[in-house]
Amino acid sequence: MKLYIKTPFVNSNKFIPHLLEHCALQSRDPSEYLKYSILTSASTRTGFSCFEREDILAQEFFDYLRMPLEEEIFNQELLAIVKELEKPSFGQKVYEKILNQISSEKITTNKAQEIPLTQLQDYHNQRYQEEYTLLIDKDGKIDKNWGMGKQIKHQQLDIKNLTKVNCGSFSYRKELQHFLWTKYSGIEDIFVLDYIGDLLESYWIFDASLHSKYFYSSFDWSFGDQYMILSNSGTLEGIKKSDFFTFSSIFKENYLRNLDYGWYRTWDSHIALFIGLETSIEEHKKLVRSIDNRLIESIVSDFLGEKFF
Ligand SMILES: [Zn+2]
Repeated sequence: MKLYIKTPFVNSNKFIPHLLEHCALQSRDPSEYLKYSILTSASTRTGFSCFEREDILAQEFFDYLRMPLEEEIFNQELLAIVKELEKPSFGQKVYEKILNQISSEKITTNKAQEIPLTQLQDYHNQRYQEEYTLLIDKDGKIDKNWGMGKQIKHQQLDIKNLTKVNCGSFSYRKELQHFLWTKYSGIEDIFVLDYIGDLLESYWIFDASLHSKYFYSSFDWSFGDQYMILSNSGTLEGIKKSDFFTFSSIFKENYLRNLDYGWYRTWDSHIALFIGLETSIEEHKKLVRSIDNRLIESIVSDFLGEKFF
């Protein structure tokens, strides 16, 4: 199971939710450490922390995470996290850059801060609550009988306003990093961008295979409390519109068929966590059917510029 806890940045800074993820999981007691800490994979992203374990019941694990924070652990993890943040990976630095670029605020994801224990305790008491926590079972399905899962509402999609998807794109580092993103206002924006990202990727892979090339650089996908971001490193291959739109109509038929098998629903838990909604495969198919070439063209043109010709 996975626990997704909604942990927003504090003053546009990820430090507090990240430090809390460390402290909540940590223990100085060897038996607790061996049972709960050592085998858990934990991470803090933009707007949520995730804890993953298959062998412990969710409620027991959640109760462990909610135990009062100790000063010794706070001091210990403060030092550990400073070391972790000393050398952020290239990907982390790029991610922070893109967040700064697309949002209007200065966002910090990888810098240690000086904070008192009480501030962390307050945040812990406030945020590590069932009402902010989604439980995902081992098959990736949302548990509707627990925490936020109880509140998820079913949503019909609005396919009439599909021309208004709020997308943007830009490149940096001498055109070697490319981003396609949406500041989503509903499930529609997410499904559209997911579809178009998949379409672009599939086209590049297909085109490379036609030319006997085996290399392609795919997108990295990230989903936070406001943005969905696709990023691509390397030089983007140009795309001829006529070839692309021929491919695109066949791609759509295949996509619709795959939807029936439950594909392309990777983001269901993120959608539930951040928007509190879910939708059916039928609604998803209706939306995909109504994605027209004009919408695709406007998003892809914006992303590829002259390389879409
Ligand atoms: Zn960490």
